[in-house]
Amino acid sequence: MSESDKKRNRREAAPGIKKSRWKAVTTSTKSNTDSLYKTRTKIFPKRIQGTFRRIKWIALIIMLAIYYFVPFIRWDRGPGAPDQAVLIDFVNARFYFFFIEIWPQEVYYITGLLIFAAIALFLASALFGRLWCGFACPQTIWTDLFIEVERLFEGDRNARIKLEKSKWTASKILKKTGKHIVWIFIAMATGGAWILYFHDAPDVLSHFFTGGSPLTAYVFVAMLTASTYLLAGFMREQVCIYMCPWPRIQAAMTDVEALNVTYRSDRGEPRGPHKKGRHGKVGAIV
Ligand code: SF4
Repeated sequence: MSESDKKRNRREAAPGIKKSRWKAVTTSTKSNTDSLYKTRTKIFPKRIQGTFRRIKWIALIIMLAIYYFVPFIRWDRGPGAPDQAVLIDFVNARFYFFFIEIWPQEVYYITGLLIFAAIALFLASALFGRLWCGFACPQTIWTDLFIEVERLFEGDRNARIKLEKSKWTASKILKKTGKHIVWIFIAMATGGAWILYFHDAPDVLSHFFTGGSPLTAYVFVAMLTASTYLLAGFMREQVCIYMCPWPRIQAAMTDVEALNVTYRSDRGEPRGPHKKGRHGKVGAIV
């Protein structure tokens, strides 16, 4: 790479697109003006109330209930066939969904269903904004759940900030330990429920704790426990910023007219007292 190419790479995020020089909105110990990665700054969200929060709690309960109870629904398919309503049977290469039975050569049905789901997601986002992210995405649901557990042990925003800054005492250790134990329990329940979709659920449940389940069941529960614990407990918004493809797609669907929660200079960002004449008019696109 020539010296001029190197210089251009330092100036441009992509050919013809200047790199942003704006500092991160939240404070950080490191300056990362030119970095594509920003170290996570811990966020302490305050408990909020209102209609949309209530809808969000109801959505969370319904979706968790679906996730945990669907494997226990029975569906009679006659003798010799599994009676679990929703089952991914790898051993016999079948996917069962109530009255539907899909064989490997019919996988195009699933492809069609996924395309339909993607179009529905695009439509919902175009009409109502980040509906999926805010109410239905598993990352949101489990993060919400983990934050609620955090509140239960450590209190609301101010108490949590205070606890974070305080010295390690017996009370702090107790609160943190309690929180992590419940987080791990939820993470295990999440991983545990996932394997129920791949084997007969009551059968797995009766053998899992006595060591009688297949090795793959334990490996997958361990992997999903670890990923849930990390993603919902520690990474949270980093998953959305760096790992998830959806914000990239949604960005392509957004224009200046779109209702969107964003942090941009043309809205008066970075936040704080607005200085006249700086960054344009505050709230120009709110
Ligand atoms: S950005 Fe991705 S991971 Fe984050 S809430 Fe939206 S869909 Fe879920």
